[in-house]
Amino acid sequence: MDYNKLADLLLPNITKTPDDYASAYPARELKEGAVVTRFAPSPTGFLHIGAIYASMVGQRAAKSTEGVFFLRIEDTDKLREIDDGVTEIVKGLSAFGIVADEGFQPDGGEKGNYGPYKQSERAEIYQCYVKELIKKGLAYPCFCEEDEMARIREQQEKNKQTTGYYGEFAKCRNLSLEEIEQNIKEGKPFVVRLKSPGDENKRISFVDAIKGKIEMPENNQDIVLLKRDGIPTYHFAHAIDDHLMGTTHVIRGDEWISSTPTHLQLFWVLGFKPPKYAHIAPIMKEDNGGKRKLSKRKDPEAAVMFYHSEGYPKEAVMEYLTTISNSNFEDWRKANKFESIDKFPFTFKKMSVSGALFDMNKLIDVSKNVISLFDADYVYECVSNWAKQYDEDFYNIISRDAEYTASLFQIDRGGKNPRKDIAKWSDAKAYCEFFFDELFTPNDCYPEQLSKEDIKAVLTEYVKAYNEDDDKDAWFANIRSLCEPLGFSPDVKAYKQSPESFKGHVGDVSTIIRVATTGRVNTPDLWSIMKLLGKQRVLQRLNDAINRI
Ligand code: GLU
Repeated sequence: MDYNKLADLLLPNITKTPDDYASAYPARELKEGAVVTRFAPSPTGFLHIGAIYASMVGQRAAKSTEGVFFLRIEDTDKLREIDDGVTEIVKGLSAFGIVADEGFQPDGGEKGNYGPYKQSERAEIYQCYVKELIKKGLAYPCFCEEDEMARIREQQEKNKQTTGYYGEFAKCRNLSLEEIEQNIKEGKPFVVRLKSPGDENKRISFVDAIKGKIEMPENNQDIVLLKRDGIPTYHFAHAIDDHLMGTTHVIRGDEWISSTPTHLQLFWVLGFKPPKYAHIAPIMKEDNGGKRKLSKRKDPEAAVMFYHSEGYPKEAVMEYLTTISNSNFEDWRKANKFESIDKFPFTFKKMSVSGALFDMNKLIDVSKNVISLFDADYVYECVSNWAKQYDEDFYNIISRDAEYTASLFQIDRGGKNPRKDIAKWSDAKAYCEFFFDELFTPNDCYPEQLSKEDIKAVLTEYVKAYNEDDDKDAWFANIRSLCEPLGFSPDVKAYKQSPESFKGHVGDVSTIIRVATTGRVNTPDLWSIMKLLGKQRVLQRLNDAINRI
């Protein structure tokens, strides 16, 4: 067979050769050990938290080795594609601080010298390499129709043979050039298949960066390289793109492990050095004592949208995903409390082989911790951005006086042991209700052992004694000085030694004042709260509380 003639017959418009592309995509000049990796989503609409997880892993692997992380859009399946798919992916990632070094950018542009980074714009490149394989007798056109394929399958199933298009069943392998010419003349559509050199009885092994050594039978299927419309399959596009783009590590979901022998074979027939593979197990969830994949249908937290609408800060989601991605991250974090997460020495080896477990309570804990380290202005900015989108009334209230709102978030922040009340921005409203008159609901939740008379007496005396100019020490001394005349102990220890001699202790007196001013038993520093509320409001609340008793 004259393969050159066959190649020109099948792909007459392709005039470039692999050499042209080899020079257009030179080897990258990076330091030794630099990881070049990518996130390669299909723009199908739904952004799964697993996508953030995978791209975060890619970004960390690249960052920690001074490598490159790029974003490639795999849009070869037009049926599954949605209109704004690409924008949604780029925006979805950037909302978590993931911006690729190359490929599509949040501003809508494309960056990098190894593009185009969208597969639908690379058709000619794939066709060039297919043409080359045809010239070498390693690929051939297949004209089989659906019914023919079904017949082959039926026969294989009946004989208990491996199903698929391979070996003796690959009938188009043996078409003569004349038969092919005739088919083309008749306008019959065709796909181009790989003439697989593999043997099902032989085994191939590779070392996965996460899962270790994996051994599987060789691929013997004549897989489709180019579909009827001239668009490649995922398999072929993966080999071409990751070769030309200089990918050193293919980080992808472990549902692709079973295809890896096919991919290694493609790299081999194409004469390319194969990349390393790092197959990520899906994020799992505990369910009825068992483990299952985080499901798009059943679990709201599977959708990236969930984190936005609940208001989990991007830093917290990243911190949490790193926690579940690398088993040694938590120890590192303990030792490097304030260090940027980018400094964490990420490794594939510490990734879970069977699937990291998603635990909402843990996310909440991590998030509280992360938020507790933010400064007040940033908290205000985040709460405000969240509220603008999800709670307009709240937004209007807090933005009336930005300085006031930022100051309330300043209370108990910045010290050694900051409070951890807020896990997500949707918690902020409840947290700061008592700072705003229109959100404040009085709640007389005084400790039960105190009588109404005593509560009333404490509040009445405090209204007289309260001085808004007191510093914290004077403020507390003032509260302490109320105790004795009212029958409370100014000293907790003394109270504990003979509780029967007192109505309560100084802590109870503070609690009464706290409940009257905030409607809560537990709040951040009360002196700071009262300072911020201001004299008029404090007195108003104390007097209202007295009147309710
Ligand atoms: N487009 C493939 C997917 O969405 C990408 C797999 C890969 O990263 O190679 O699953």
